[in-house]
Amino acid sequence: MYDANHLIRQLRESSLGREEDVFARLPGGGTVTFDALFAGAERMASALAGQGVQPGDRVAVQVQKTIQAIELYLGTVMAGGIFLPLNTAYTGPEVAYFVGDATPRVVVCDPVRKEEISAISGEAKVLTLDAAGQGTLRDLADGQPGFEPVVRQADDLAAILYTSGTTGRSKGAMLSHDNLASNSLTLRGYWRFTKDDVLIHALPIFHTHGLFVATNVALFAGCQVVFLPGFDADAILDAMPTATALMGVPTFYTRLLADARLTPERAANMRLFISGSAPLLVDTHEQWEARTGHRILERYGMTETNMSTSNPYDGERRAGTVGFPLPGVEARVIKDGAEVPAGEIGVLEVRGPNVFQGYWQMPEKTAEELQADGWFITGDMAKIDADGYVTIVGREKDLIITGGFNVYPKEVESLIDDLPGVLESAVIGVPHPDFGEGVVAVVVPKGEGTSAEAIKAALTGQLAKFKQPKEILLLEALPRNTMGKVQKKALREEYAGLFG
Ligand code: AMP
Repeated sequence: MYDANHLIRQLRESSLGREEDVFARLPGGGTVTFDALFAGAERMASALAGQGVQPGDRVAVQVQKTIQAIELYLGTVMAGGIFLPLNTAYTGPEVAYFVGDATPRVVVCDPVRKEEISAISGEAKVLTLDAAGQGTLRDLADGQPGFEPVVRQADDLAAILYTSGTTGRSKGAMLSHDNLASNSLTLRGYWRFTKDDVLIHALPIFHTHGLFVATNVALFAGCQVVFLPGFDADAILDAMPTATALMGVPTFYTRLLADARLTPERAANMRLFISGSAPLLVDTHEQWEARTGHRILERYGMTETNMSTSNPYDGERRAGTVGFPLPGVEARVIKDGAEVPAGEIGVLEVRGPNVFQGYWQMPEKTAEELQADGWFITGDMAKIDADGYVTIVGREKDLIITGGFNVYPKEVESLIDDLPGVLESAVIGVPHPDFGEGVVAVVVPKGEGTSAEAIKAALTGQLAKFKQPKEILLLEALPRNTMGKVQKKALREEYAGLFG
């Protein structure tokens, strides 16, 4: 039976006629054609089916970024399975939680962790895949016959991605074939990806950004990727003259800006730089334009919703904003149960084919956040201005309530970031005996540097007294996760005792 809904079938059809063309350029000069990629994926699907993977079964994967890992993703979904990627940084006890929660049929891990992972994987079959794409899974896959994708419906699950859990326990976001296919097709069009593009792919593939935005958009465009195992300024700058697009987190851009080899000439062949997963500083946006002549296109999304908003391709890319809702996606800002007027801050909700199916085995959590009429409460505080541009002002859980007043960290951070001698800042609330929470600013100085006194003096008169930090701490760097997100929870824990 022909299955038009199947994500992998759709991805494959997008490169029809280009089977012998190169999909991936690998470090060291190797290449992988579209045909080789999908043939590898079919062998993975056969191997998994041979291990008992049935439609709907989870395949949990904690491996390094390789082409074989991409084949494993495609192969799992071809076999009707649900791909469940895990951050390579997760420790044994963390993996034990995910495996216990998701009860996968197969777990694939790095060979060096085989024993540790086997001990916590219960009934699951544990296979290995290493950083060179070798291991027991590869051995099983080699020599397997071709594989026809198992028939799936649009709403059937293709993946479960656990949220990064910056604010609480990780939840498994269930994503359907249609969630993934529809969003990537929208992005392909919105960002004008075609088969002539060459995308620099340096993001991890255990997260929505590298796995779905980068990989699926490239496959839907039938374009080439420069496939890098991780962020590597040398490799990215080397690739730039023959590439057309880069997808990155903000730290990619700040790190590249620190390299003198970033010049307009080097970026001359590039048509698009995209940033997301964490807020891009206005300063970075401006510096990037001055250095390369390109305005970074910032977009916004999350594990549960895929991508929801994007700055325009042709129109004005407004620094500090995440642009407009994507075609087919609705966005609104809610406060006290009602939609707020333009420019006012509230909690952002989104609705559309991009929105996930709910949290794995957490019907109550799902009901709290995914409303019956389809609107998903993102937990991000945002405003939408009169022109329709959306600005994210931070996570709702990062909102500070001090002496009964609300303080939006972004408002304070923006003022501090604009001061001379400041690179960036994070404003948090920590327990305070009088005020409930006290505002604390953690500041990273730059250049000549600054002092807590200078910052305090500069904010006086600019901010209401209750918004002014009661304590300003200078740090060399902010704690960030692999996706470049500032770990405010870690800062709150670290400074929990600041006010006694
Ligand atoms: P994740 O599920 O790991 O992709 O994290 C999603 C969260 O990252 C969102 O809910 C936002 O808080 C944040 N985020 C993603 N993109 C942006 C952006 N362009 N600007 C600000 N925050 C962002």
